[in-house]
Amino acid sequence: MNTTLKRIDPRRPFTITAAGLRRITLGAADEMYALHDEAGQFGTAVPAAHGTAAKPRRTTQAAQRTLLVAAHSDRGALDEHARQTLAAAALIAGAATQVVLVVFGALHDDGGAPGADKIIELASFGSRAFAPEREVQALAACVARFAPDHVLLPDNAFGDGDLGRRYAALAGASVATQVVQIDAAQVGVYVHARRSLALRALPEVVLLAPGAVDPRLPFVGAGERIGAEIGETFDAAGSRYVDRGIEAVDAARVALEEADFIVSAGNGVSDVTAFGRLAEAFGAAVGASRVAVDNGLFRRDQQIGATGKTVEASVYVAFGISGAVQHLQGIKDCRHVIAVNLDASAPIVKRANLTIVGDTQSTIAALIDEIGRARQAAPHPQDTATLNQETEGVTA
Ligand SMILES: Cc1cc2nc3c(=O)[nH]c(=O)nc-3n(C[C@H](O)[C@H](O)[C@H](O)COP(=O)(O)OP(=O)(O)OC[C@H]3O[C@@H](n4cnc5c(N)ncnc54)[C@H](O)[C@@H]3O)c2cc1C
Repeated sequence: MNTTLKRIDPRRPFTITAAGLRRITLGAADEMYALHDEAGQFGTAVPAAHGTAAKPRRTTQAAQRTLLVAAHSDRGALDEHARQTLAAAALIAGAATQVVLVVFGALHDDGGAPGADKIIELASFGSRAFAPEREVQALAACVARFAPDHVLLPDNAFGDGDLGRRYAALAGASVATQVVQIDAAQVGVYVHARRSLALRALPEVVLLAPGAVDPRLPFVGAGERIGAEIGETFDAAGSRYVDRGIEAVDAARVALEEADFIVSAGNGVSDVTAFGRLAEAFGAAVGASRVAVDNGLFRRDQQIGATGKTVEASVYVAFGISGAVQHLQGIKDCRHVIAVNLDASAPIVKRANLTIVGDTQSTIAALIDEIGRARQAAPHPQDTATLNQETEGVTA
Protein backbone atom coordinates (compact mmCIF):
# COMPACT_ATOMS: atom_id res chain seq x y z
CA MET A 1 0.00 0.00 0.00
CA ASN A 2 1.30 3.41 -0.90
CA THR A 3 1.18 5.53 2.24
CA THR A 4 2.84 8.57 0.70
CA LEU A 5 0.44 11.49 0.95
CA LYS A 6 0.95 14.46 -1.31
CA ARG A 7 1.25 17.55 0.86
CA ILE A 8 -0.32 20.82 -0.21
CA ASP A 9 1.44 24.04 0.66
CA PRO A 10 -1.07 25.76 2.99
CA ARG A 11 0.24 29.18 1.87
CA ARG A 12 -0.65 28.64 -1.76
CA PRO A 13 -2.99 31.22 -3.32
CA PHE A 14 -6.54 30.79 -2.16
CA THR A 15 -9.92 32.41 -2.34
CA ILE A 16 -12.36 32.88 0.50
CA THR A 17 -15.70 31.20 -0.04
CA ALA A 18 -19.00 32.80 0.86
CA ALA A 19 -18.99 30.51 3.90
CA GLY A 20 -15.77 32.16 5.05
CA LEU A 21 -13.58 29.18 4.32
CA ARG A 22 -10.22 29.47 2.73
CA ARG A 23 -10.25 27.49 -0.47
CA ILE A 24 -6.75 26.68 -1.62
CA THR A 25 -6.74 26.40 -5.38
CA LEU A 26 -5.97 22.83 -6.23
CA GLY A 27 -4.01 21.69 -9.25
CA ALA A 28 -0.72 23.13 -10.38
CA ALA A 29 -0.06 26.40 -8.63
CA ASP A 30 0.61 28.13 -11.92
CA GLU A 31 -2.27 26.84 -13.98
CA MET A 32 -5.73 28.29 -13.39
CA TYR A 33 -7.34 30.41 -10.71
CA ALA A 34 -10.97 31.22 -10.11
CA LEU A 35 -12.15 34.79 -9.60
CA HIS A 36 -15.17 36.13 -7.79
CA ASP A 37 -18.20 37.46 -9.50
CA GLU A 38 -20.37 40.14 -7.92
CA ALA A 39 -22.22 37.62 -5.75
CA GLY A 40 -18.98 36.37 -4.27
CA GLN A 41 -19.18 33.10 -6.21
CA PHE A 42 -16.40 31.67 -8.29
CA GLY A 43 -16.37 32.99 -11.81
CA THR A 44 -14.39 32.45 -14.95
CA ALA A 45 -11.05 30.74 -14.65
CA VAL A 46 -8.17 32.73 -16.08
CA PRO A 47 -4.49 31.95 -16.49
CA ALA A 48 -2.68 32.86 -13.31
CA ALA A 49 0.72 34.32 -12.84
CA HIS A 50 3.58 32.47 -11.36
CA GLY A 51 7.23 33.32 -11.35
CA THR A 52 7.89 35.95 -13.95
CA ALA A 53 4.66 35.49 -15.95
CA ALA A 54 2.29 38.47 -15.87
CA LYS A 55 -0.71 38.08 -13.59
CA PRO A 56 -4.18 38.80 -14.95
CA ARG A 57 -6.17 41.81 -13.81
CA ARG A 58 -8.71 40.93 -11.12
CA THR A 59 -11.44 42.67 -13.08
CA THR A 60 -11.75 44.88 -16.12
CA GLN A 61 -15.39 45.81 -15.55
CA ALA A 62 -16.42 49.40 -14.90
CA ALA A 63 -16.54 50.13 -11.18
CA GLN A 64 -19.96 50.56 -9.65
CA ARG A 65 -19.00 50.07 -6.03
CA THR A 66 -15.92 50.66 -3.91
CA LEU A 67 -14.03 49.00 -1.09
CA LEU A 68 -11.62 51.43 0.53
CA VAL A 69 -8.40 50.31 2.22
CA ALA A 70 -6.35 52.75 4.30
CA ALA A 71 -2.88 52.15 5.71
CA HIS A 72 0.27 54.00 6.68
CA SER A 73 3.31 53.26 4.59
CA ASP A 74 6.57 52.17 6.13
CA ARG A 75 9.57 53.85 4.50
CA GLY A 76 7.80 54.11 1.16
CA ALA A 77 6.32 50.59 1.18
CA LEU A 78 3.32 48.71 2.53
CA ASP A 79 4.19 46.29 5.28
CA GLU A 80 2.96 42.70 5.32
CA HIS A 81 -0.10 43.51 7.44
CA ALA A 82 -1.16 46.33 5.11
CA ARG A 83 -0.73 44.01 2.11
CA GLN A 84 -2.89 41.39 3.84
CA THR A 85 -5.62 43.99 4.35
CA LEU A 86 -5.42 45.07 0.72
CA ALA A 87 -5.54 41.42 -0.36
CA ALA A 88 -8.62 40.86 1.82
CA ALA A 89 -10.42 43.70 0.02
CA ALA A 90 -9.36 42.40 -3.41
CA LEU A 91 -10.47 38.86 -2.55
CA ILE A 92 -13.94 39.86 -1.41
CA ALA A 93 -14.49 42.49 -4.11
CA GLY A 94 -16.90 41.57 -6.87
CA ALA A 95 -16.16 42.16 -10.54
CA ALA A 96 -17.91 45.56 -10.52
CA THR A 97 -16.23 46.67 -7.29
CA GLN A 98 -13.01 48.67 -7.28
CA VAL A 99 -10.46 48.57 -4.48
CA VAL A 100 -9.20 52.05 -3.60
CA LEU A 101 -6.07 52.26 -1.48
CA VAL A 102 -5.37 55.38 0.59
CA VAL A 103 -1.76 55.47 1.71
CA PHE A 104 -0.76 57.73 4.59
CA GLY A 105 2.83 58.51 3.64
CA ALA A 106 4.85 57.94 0.49
CA LEU A 107 4.40 54.81 -1.57
CA HIS A 108 7.23 53.97 -3.95
CA ASP A 109 5.94 50.47 -4.72
CA ASP A 110 3.45 49.47 -7.36
CA GLY A 111 0.09 49.40 -5.57
CA GLY A 112 -1.50 47.33 -8.33
CA ALA A 113 0.53 44.21 -7.59
CA PRO A 114 -0.87 43.80 -4.06
CA GLY A 115 -4.42 44.34 -5.35
CA ALA A 116 -5.28 48.07 -5.49
CA ASP A 117 -7.21 49.41 -8.48
CA LYS A 118 -6.78 53.06 -7.51
CA ILE A 119 -4.15 54.55 -5.22
CA ILE A 120 -4.24 57.86 -3.39
CA GLU A 121 -0.85 58.67 -1.92
CA LEU A 122 -1.05 61.18 0.94
CA ALA A 123 2.65 61.88 1.05
CA SER A 124 2.38 64.68 3.63
CA PHE A 125 1.38 62.11 6.25
CA GLY A 126 3.50 59.26 7.51
CA SER A 127 3.94 56.79 10.32
CA ARG A 128 6.64 58.98 11.88
CA ALA A 129 4.35 62.00 12.31
CA PHE A 130 1.47 62.14 14.77
CA ALA A 131 -1.50 63.91 13.17
CA PRO A 132 -4.61 62.00 14.25
CA GLU A 133 -7.12 64.76 13.53
CA ARG A 134 -5.77 65.58 10.06
CA GLU A 135 -5.60 61.90 9.20
CA VAL A 136 -9.16 61.19 10.21
CA GLN A 137 -10.34 64.22 8.22
CA ALA A 138 -8.38 63.02 5.17
CA LEU A 139 -9.88 59.54 5.51
CA ALA A 140 -13.36 61.02 5.88
CA ALA A 141 -12.75 63.08 2.72
CA CYS A 142 -11.77 59.92 0.81
CA VAL A 143 -14.89 58.15 2.07
CA ALA A 144 -17.01 61.15 1.01
CA ARG A 145 -15.45 61.02 -2.46
CA PHE A 146 -15.84 57.30 -3.11
CA ALA A 147 -18.79 56.33 -0.88
CA PRO A 148 -17.29 52.86 -0.25
CA ASP A 149 -19.40 49.98 1.01
CA HIS A 150 -16.70 49.16 3.55
CA VAL A 151 -13.45 50.65 4.84
CA LEU A 152 -10.68 48.20 5.77
CA LEU A 153 -7.55 48.96 7.81
CA PRO A 154 -4.85 46.81 9.40
CA ASP A 155 -5.53 46.62 13.15
CA ASN A 156 -2.04 47.54 14.29
CA ALA A 157 -0.50 49.78 16.93
CA PHE A 158 1.33 51.95 14.38
CA GLY A 159 -1.47 54.35 13.55
CA ASP A 160 -3.89 52.34 11.41
CA GLY A 161 -5.80 50.72 14.29
CA ASP A 162 -6.14 54.12 15.96
CA LEU A 163 -7.19 55.81 12.71
CA GLY A 164 -9.87 53.19 12.04
CA ARG A 165 -11.35 53.56 15.51
CA ARG A 166 -11.30 57.35 15.31
CA TYR A 167 -12.96 57.28 11.91
CA ALA A 168 -15.67 54.85 13.08
CA ALA A 169 -16.40 57.08 16.08
CA LEU A 170 -16.46 60.23 13.93
CA ALA A 171 -18.75 58.71 11.30
CA GLY A 172 -20.89 56.76 13.77
CA ALA A 173 -20.04 53.72 11.65
CA SER A 174 -20.36 50.06 12.61
CA VAL A 175 -16.95 48.54 13.27
CA ALA A 176 -15.30 45.18 13.95
CA THR A 177 -11.79 45.07 15.40
CA GLN A 178 -9.19 42.31 15.40
CA VAL A 179 -11.01 40.51 12.61
CA VAL A 180 -9.51 37.08 12.00
CA GLN A 181 -11.89 35.86 9.31
CA ILE A 182 -13.53 37.71 6.47
CA ASP A 183 -15.58 37.03 3.38
CA ALA A 184 -17.90 39.08 1.19
CA ALA A 185 -20.76 38.83 3.70
CA GLN A 186 -19.37 38.59 7.21
CA VAL A 187 -16.43 38.86 9.57
CA GLY A 188 -15.28 36.67 12.43
CA VAL A 189 -13.56 37.70 15.67
CA TYR A 190 -12.36 35.61 18.58
CA VAL A 191 -14.32 35.84 21.83
CA HIS A 192 -14.20 34.11 25.22
CA ALA A 193 -10.41 34.15 25.43
CA ARG A 194 -10.15 32.83 21.86
CA ARG A 195 -12.26 29.77 22.65
CA SER A 196 -15.09 30.82 20.30
CA LEU A 197 -15.45 32.65 17.04
CA ALA A 198 -18.20 35.27 16.78
CA LEU A 199 -19.52 36.06 13.31
CA ARG A 200 -21.38 39.19 12.24
CA ALA A 201 -22.40 40.86 8.98
CA LEU A 202 -19.60 42.82 7.33
CA PRO A 203 -19.52 46.16 9.19
CA GLU A 204 -18.76 49.54 7.65
CA VAL A 205 -15.26 49.60 9.16
CA VAL A 206 -13.19 46.41 9.30
CA LEU A 207 -9.97 46.35 11.32
CA LEU A 208 -8.13 43.22 10.26
CA ALA A 209 -5.89 41.25 12.63
CA PRO A 210 -2.46 40.27 11.27
CA GLY A 211 -2.22 36.91 9.52
CA ALA A 212 -5.91 36.59 8.59
CA VAL A 213 -5.30 36.62 4.84
CA ASP A 214 -2.52 35.45 2.55
CA PRO A 215 -1.38 38.54 0.62
CA ARG A 216 -0.10 36.59 -2.38
CA LEU A 217 -2.84 37.11 -4.92
CA PRO A 218 -3.25 35.23 -8.19
CA PHE A 219 -4.23 38.53 -9.87
CA VAL A 220 -3.34 42.20 -9.80
CA GLY A 221 -5.31 45.43 -9.47
CA ALA A 222 -5.34 48.22 -12.05
CA GLY A 223 -2.89 50.21 -9.90
CA GLU A 224 -3.96 53.62 -11.17
CA ARG A 225 -2.59 56.59 -9.23
CA ILE A 226 -5.12 59.33 -8.68
CA GLY A 227 -5.11 62.86 -7.24
CA ALA A 228 -3.30 63.42 -3.99
CA GLU A 229 -5.10 66.71 -3.35
CA ILE A 230 -7.09 65.04 -0.57
CA GLY A 231 -5.26 65.44 2.66
CA GLU A 232 -3.05 68.28 1.46
CA THR A 233 -5.92 70.59 2.38
CA PHE A 234 -5.88 69.72 6.08
CA ASP A 235 -3.43 71.71 8.13
CA ALA A 236 -2.49 71.27 11.74
CA ALA A 237 -3.96 74.62 12.86
CA GLY A 238 -6.38 74.21 15.73
CA SER A 239 -5.21 70.69 16.52
CA ARG A 240 -5.48 69.63 20.15
CA TYR A 241 -2.39 67.49 19.72
CA VAL A 242 1.23 68.49 19.69
CA ASP A 243 3.59 66.19 17.86
CA ARG A 244 6.72 66.05 19.98
CA GLY A 245 8.52 63.89 17.44
CA ILE A 246 10.08 60.50 17.89
CA GLU A 247 12.64 59.90 20.57
CA ALA A 248 15.40 57.54 19.51
CA VAL A 249 16.04 54.79 22.04
CA ASP A 250 19.12 52.66 22.34
CA ALA A 251 18.54 49.62 20.11
CA ALA A 252 19.87 47.39 22.88
CA ARG A 253 16.89 48.45 25.03
CA VAL A 254 14.31 47.44 22.46
CA ALA A 255 12.72 44.05 23.08
CA LEU A 256 13.68 41.64 20.30
CA GLU A 257 10.01 40.93 19.63
CA GLU A 258 9.50 44.64 18.85
CA ALA A 259 12.76 45.30 17.01
CA ASP A 260 12.51 46.28 13.36
CA PHE A 261 16.17 45.64 12.55
CA ILE A 262 18.03 42.69 14.08
CA VAL A 263 21.55 41.43 13.53
CA SER A 264 21.97 37.89 14.76
CA ALA A 265 25.08 35.85 15.42
CA GLY A 266 25.61 32.12 15.11
CA ASN A 267 28.43 29.67 15.52
CA GLY A 268 30.19 31.25 12.53
CA VAL A 269 30.85 34.50 14.42
CA SER A 270 34.14 34.43 16.32
CA ASP A 271 34.78 38.15 16.91
CA VAL A 272 31.86 39.05 19.16
CA THR A 273 33.27 42.51 19.94
CA ALA A 274 33.32 43.49 16.25
CA PHE A 275 29.81 42.04 15.89
CA GLY A 276 28.63 44.24 18.79
CA ARG A 277 30.25 47.30 17.15
CA LEU A 278 28.40 46.55 13.93
CA ALA A 279 25.06 46.24 15.76
CA GLU A 280 25.72 49.61 17.40
CA ALA A 281 26.69 51.23 14.09
CA PHE A 282 23.51 49.92 12.46
CA GLY A 283 21.39 50.82 15.49
CA ALA A 284 20.14 47.23 15.38
CA ALA A 285 18.99 44.89 18.15
CA VAL A 286 21.14 41.80 18.80
CA GLY A 287 19.93 38.21 18.49
CA ALA A 288 21.75 34.87 18.48
CA SER A 289 21.37 31.22 17.61
CA ARG A 290 21.14 28.63 20.35
CA VAL A 291 24.68 27.41 19.74
CA ALA A 292 26.03 30.96 20.13
CA VAL A 293 24.04 31.28 23.38
CA ASP A 294 25.10 27.83 24.63
CA ASN A 295 28.72 28.86 23.97
CA GLY A 296 28.22 31.67 26.48
CA LEU A 297 28.70 34.47 23.94
CA PHE A 298 25.16 35.86 24.23
CA ARG A 299 22.45 35.99 26.87
CA ARG A 300 19.69 33.37 26.88
CA ASP A 301 17.06 36.09 26.31
CA GLN A 302 18.79 36.90 23.01
CA GLN A 303 18.18 33.43 21.60
CA ILE A 304 15.92 33.38 18.56
CA GLY A 305 14.04 30.28 17.52
CA ALA A 306 11.67 27.57 18.65
CA THR A 307 12.96 27.63 22.22
CA GLY A 308 13.86 31.32 22.10
CA LYS A 309 12.12 34.42 20.81
CA THR A 310 9.93 34.76 17.73
CA VAL A 311 10.77 37.99 15.94
CA GLU A 312 9.08 40.04 13.20
CA ALA A 313 11.80 42.43 12.08
CA SER A 314 11.70 44.16 8.72
CA VAL A 315 15.38 43.28 8.33
CA TYR A 316 17.04 40.25 9.93
CA VAL A 317 20.73 39.72 9.20
CA ALA A 318 21.99 36.23 10.12
CA PHE A 319 25.77 36.08 10.51
CA GLY A 320 27.20 32.54 10.51
CA ILE A 321 23.85 30.88 11.25
CA SER A 322 23.15 27.61 9.44
CA GLY A 323 19.35 28.03 9.50
CA ALA A 324 18.32 24.92 11.42
CA VAL A 325 14.56 24.42 11.41
CA GLN A 326 14.32 25.48 15.07
CA HIS A 327 16.03 28.78 14.27
CA LEU A 328 13.93 29.40 11.14
CA GLN A 329 10.80 28.97 13.23
CA GLY A 330 11.73 32.11 15.17
CA ILE A 331 12.22 34.26 12.06
CA LYS A 332 9.29 33.08 9.96
CA ASP A 333 7.59 36.48 10.17
CA CYS A 334 10.65 38.56 9.28
CA ARG A 335 10.25 40.56 6.11
CA HIS A 336 13.76 40.60 4.64
CA VAL A 337 16.32 38.02 5.72
CA ILE A 338 19.94 38.53 4.77
CA ALA A 339 22.39 35.69 5.37
CA VAL A 340 26.16 35.86 5.63
CA ASN A 341 27.59 32.37 5.40
CA LEU A 342 30.58 30.57 3.92
CA ASP A 343 28.35 27.72 2.84
CA ALA A 344 26.11 28.58 -0.11
CA SER A 345 24.09 25.42 0.52
CA ALA A 346 23.26 26.17 4.18
CA PRO A 347 19.48 25.99 4.86
CA ILE A 348 19.38 29.69 5.78
CA VAL A 349 20.17 30.50 2.14
CA LYS A 350 16.82 29.10 1.03
CA ARG A 351 15.01 31.35 3.52
CA ALA A 352 17.14 34.43 2.82
CA ASN A 353 16.15 37.13 0.38
CA LEU A 354 19.82 37.97 -0.07
CA THR A 355 22.90 35.91 0.77
CA ILE A 356 26.49 37.03 1.05
CA VAL A 357 28.62 33.93 0.57
CA GLY A 358 31.67 34.92 2.56
CA ASP A 359 33.37 35.10 5.91
CA THR A 360 31.45 36.78 8.74
CA GLN A 361 34.47 38.53 10.24
CA SER A 362 35.57 40.20 6.99
CA THR A 363 31.96 41.09 6.09
CA ILE A 364 31.43 42.65 9.53
CA ALA A 365 34.67 44.69 9.18
CA ALA A 366 33.71 45.83 5.67
CA LEU A 367 30.22 46.86 6.82
CA ILE A 368 31.58 48.86 9.77
CA ASP A 369 33.91 50.72 7.35
CA GLU A 370 31.08 51.30 4.90
CA ILE A 371 28.76 52.67 7.60
CA GLY A 372 31.55 55.00 8.78
CA ARG A 373 32.05 56.29 5.23
CA ALA A 374 28.30 56.74 4.69
CA ARG A 375 27.96 58.63 8.00
CA GLN A 376 30.77 60.98 7.03
CA ALA A 377 29.16 61.66 3.66
CA ALA A 378 25.68 62.19 5.14
CA PRO A 379 25.69 62.59 8.93
CA HIS A 380 22.91 60.79 10.78
CA PRO A 381 20.33 63.25 12.28
CA GLN A 382 21.26 62.00 15.76
CA ASP A 383 24.94 62.64 15.09
CA THR A 384 24.07 66.16 13.93
CA ALA A 385 22.01 66.75 17.08
CA THR A 386 24.92 65.64 19.25
CA LEU A 387 27.27 67.79 17.23
CA ASN A 388 24.96 70.80 17.59
CA GLN A 389 24.70 70.30 21.34
CA GLU A 390 28.48 70.06 21.62
CA THR A 391 28.95 73.19 19.51
CA GLU A 392 26.42 75.06 21.63
CA GLY A 393 28.29 73.95 24.73
CA VAL A 394 31.56 75.32 23.33
CA THR A 395 30.19 78.72 22.35
CA ALA A 396 28.25 79.24 25.58
C1 LIG B 1 14.53 20.95 20.78
C2 LIG B 1 15.49 21.90 20.12
C3 LIG B 1 15.24 23.25 20.19
C4 LIG B 1 16.10 24.14 19.58
N1 LIG B 1 15.85 25.49 19.63
C5 LIG B 1 16.65 26.35 18.99
C6 LIG B 1 16.39 27.75 18.97
O1 LIG B 1 15.42 28.23 19.59
N2 LIG B 1 17.22 28.55 18.29
C7 LIG B 1 18.30 28.09 17.60
O2 LIG B 1 19.01 28.90 16.97
N3 LIG B 1 18.58 26.78 17.60
C8 LIG B 1 17.80 25.90 18.29
N4 LIG B 1 18.13 24.58 18.30
C9 LIG B 1 19.42 24.19 17.76
C10 LIG B 1 19.44 24.05 16.26
O3 LIG B 1 19.04 22.77 15.89
C11 LIG B 1 20.87 24.29 15.71
O4 LIG B 1 21.75 23.41 16.34
C12 LIG B 1 21.38 25.71 15.91
O5 LIG B 1 20.44 26.65 15.46
C13 LIG B 1 22.66 25.88 15.13
O6 LIG B 1 23.23 27.12 15.41
P1 LIG B 1 24.21 27.80 14.35
O7 LIG B 1 23.53 27.86 13.04
O8 LIG B 1 24.67 29.07 14.96
O9 LIG B 1 25.45 26.81 14.35
P2 LIG B 1 25.98 25.76 13.30
O10 LIG B 1 24.95 24.76 13.00
O11 LIG B 1 27.29 25.29 13.80
O12 LIG B 1 26.16 26.61 11.96
C14 LIG B 1 27.15 27.59 11.80
C15 LIG B 1 27.02 28.18 10.43
O13 LIG B 1 27.97 29.19 10.27
C16 LIG B 1 28.66 29.03 9.04
N5 LIG B 1 30.03 29.52 9.26
C17 LIG B 1 31.01 28.95 10.00
N6 LIG B 1 32.10 29.75 10.00
C18 LIG B 1 31.80 30.83 9.24
C19 LIG B 1 32.50 32.00 8.87
N7 LIG B 1 33.75 32.24 9.30
N8 LIG B 1 31.90 32.89 8.06
C20 LIG B 1 30.61 32.67 7.62
N9 LIG B 1 29.90 31.58 7.95
C21 LIG B 1 30.49 30.67 8.75
C22 LIG B 1 28.60 27.58 8.72
O14 LIG B 1 28.68 27.38 7.31
C23 LIG B 1 27.24 27.19 9.29
O15 LIG B 1 26.24 27.33 8.33
C24 LIG B 1 17.26 23.67 18.90
C25 LIG B 1 17.49 22.30 18.83
C26 LIG B 1 16.62 21.43 19.42
C27 LIG B 1 16.89 19.95 19.32
